[in-house]
Amino acid sequence: MMYIDPHIHVTSRTTDDYEAMQKAGIVAVIEPAFWLGQPRTKVGSFQDYFSSLVGWERFRAKQFGIVHYCTIGLNSKEANNVPLAEEVMELLPLYVGKEGVVAIGEIGYDDQTEAEDRFYRLQLELAKEVDLPVMIHTPHRDKKKGTLRSMDVSEEHGLDPGMVIVDHNNEETVKEVLDRGYWAAFTIYPHTKMGSERMVEIVRQYGPERIIVDSAADWGISDPLAVPKTAALMLEKGIPKEHVEMTCYKNALKAYGQSGQMEEKDWLEKEPIDQTKKHGGSTVLRGGQTPRVDNDSSNIIEN
Ligand SMILES: [Zn+2]
Repeated sequence: MMYIDPHIHVTSRTTDDYEAMQKAGIVAVIEPAFWLGQPRTKVGSFQDYFSSLVGWERFRAKQFGIVHYCTIGLNSKEANNVPLAEEVMELLPLYVGKEGVVAIGEIGYDDQTEAEDRFYRLQLELAKEVDLPVMIHTPHRDKKKGTLRSMDVSEEHGLDPGMVIVDHNNEETVKEVLDRGYWAAFTIYPHTKMGSERMVEIVRQYGPERIIVDSAADWGISDPLAVPKTAALMLEKGIPKEHVEMTCYKNALKAYGQSGQMEEKDWLEKEPIDQTKKHGGSTVLRGGQTPRVDNDSSNIIEN
């Protein structure tokens, strides 16, 4: 089976992760622009980060047989640095139209402050203007309230719920998110409440329509194989194969494919891995390593 991980910060993962992901059947990833643990102090840091999401990281993923897409946005945490956030807002239009940008995101609320609200609204307007889907990061604290507010404000700005993916759901939020016509994404973190076991029960209860599974793996304790592992558990627990395929592959493609930037043929017809290639003079190889160079036929066998 093929999988998409539609929320993973691969910039902070290793080449071993990429290799394991490809082996496990992940054909494509979406990397949302987010914060980096360390708050940025200059707009140039954002600029270089966005450039690497549409440039180097896209190239790096390809060297391991994975198609990389991203979302561009000002995250809610850093929206609280208002002077900097204003500068970032001016930068966003330069990036949202780049190849492989499938949404504005991840945006929304963290502490649900006034500044977060202001920049969330501005970015909803930007999404409407450029006709891109929106990826919403819902807060980890006061989740229910923050999730409802994210949807209320999105509707206030006239966004079509079918263009909005609400992420980091749980049992408390899923019903209303689905009832209101949004895509409901779930982040599977290891050793936490929203683990694979609970995900299986959610799919059993609500069915596969508009439900999306992701890992949100980043520089913290997380699992870049959360999507294929959850899929395996679903099958083991008797969830029909079509439902697994929808929640771990097809729904993400449908939701983010609305950008016009993501199609199945991107990975079905992709060039074979060729690690001799360079990006701006840089390579994933280190001194004396043998590059992996696949031919077309090996690619077809893998799929
Ligand atoms: Zn994230």
